[in-house]
Amino acid sequence: MLNILIIGNGQCGNRILDAINRRALGGGKNCSRLARFYSRQKFKSHVETLALNTAINDLKEMKFTKAKDRIHIEHLHGVGANRNIGKQVFGEKKERIMRQIEERGNFDIAFVITSASGGTGSSFTPLLVKEMKNRYNYPVYCLVVLPFREEGTLYLQNTAFSIREIRQSGTDGIILADNQYLKNIGGSIQEAYNGINDMIAERILFLLDALDSEMMMVTDLGDFKSVMSGGAGLATMGFFKSDKETSIKTAIQSTLSPAGLLFSTDVYKEASRAMIIIKGDRKYLNVDDISDEIEKLSRAIGHVFKGIIVRSGEYPQVLSVLTLESAHEMEKLYNIAIQAIQQEKEKKQRVEKESELDKTFSMIEGLEPEY
Ligand code: GDP
Repeated sequence: MLNILIIGNGQCGNRILDAINRRALGGGKNCSRLARFYSRQKFKSHVETLALNTAINDLKEMKFTKAKDRIHIEHLHGVGANRNIGKQVFGEKKERIMRQIEERGNFDIAFVITSASGGTGSSFTPLLVKEMKNRYNYPVYCLVVLPFREEGTLYLQNTAFSIREIRQSGTDGIILADNQYLKNIGGSIQEAYNGINDMIAERILFLLDALDSEMMMVTDLGDFKSVMSGGAGLATMGFFKSDKETSIKTAIQSTLSPAGLLFSTDVYKEASRAMIIIKGDRKYLNVDDISDEIEKLSRAIGHVFKGIIVRSGEYPQVLSVLTLESAHEMEKLYNIAIQAIQQEKEKKQRVEKESELDKTFSMIEGLEPEY
């Protein structure tokens, strides 16, 4: 049995963590609040979850994460997308935060979930991971959510700096999920968030289940570590759930296709290593078809680990974890982030010079009101 720690930082991290807990408690999309009182966690592993936030309202919004796992790091009403303030708050509250992790025991693996673009999660995550890597010797993976590109200059510049800092934090790998890429989920912004969070939660739980399962063909934590250590430190995940109409070949192809992935990439061109895990009834798992698809991928990218978990009566579900050698989409994001940083810099310089508005105010210099 694996001991697993999942930390959600900031609003986005908290919400995804809550989606994981909801699913782990047996809840589908419409799981009622009460479900948590009646059902037991479906985790096979021993999983501890921890939500950190400077904004208490974000923590209160969580429905499926125990109160003792929601930790408020006091700082007024949050850090307002300012990463410098976020870093300062982490520095001041570091020991309190680390004590929360310490108290939860030792782990085989940890995940830290955050958005790249906000204030709290994006500034806490690199510092937290660095601290964890200094103190513990288990691998720490980050799941990082990229912003919608139209969310504004501050979010874009935060993204560029936070991703770089997370990469330098000592993390064992970054799994990317991109709001922009996934936004075609549709509906209101809240529905899109819920849909994206649910996709991420489904993939994480599948991965945890697989790492702790008896497999017909084995992949384990060691293989996962090998996959994640390949490439340029960035990875993504794909998933597909088939029905009786879908062949196993189509299911595997679908986890590698745009519709199945969390981040836009051509896996045959940009992936470096992969792990494909298939779960389902033996009667749907044609080994030749599976080998064909896996070989196609390994011819293009190099090494592909495969695992099969037999679950009688279930249509196949397939998960792919892919590390990337290059990421064209990330280059595009950094290009627009550079423009955003430039725009903010110019704006600041304009404001620092005597502004038109200052001239307007100075027109009444030396005058007094007359009544
Ligand atoms: P923080 O609380 O200061 O760390 O900031 P947030 O986590 O709210 O970061 C803002 C970014 O997170 C924006 O790019 C939002 O689009 C994104 N975001 C906020 N909430 C969610 C959510 O529930 N799901 C997803 N996928 N993205 C979110």
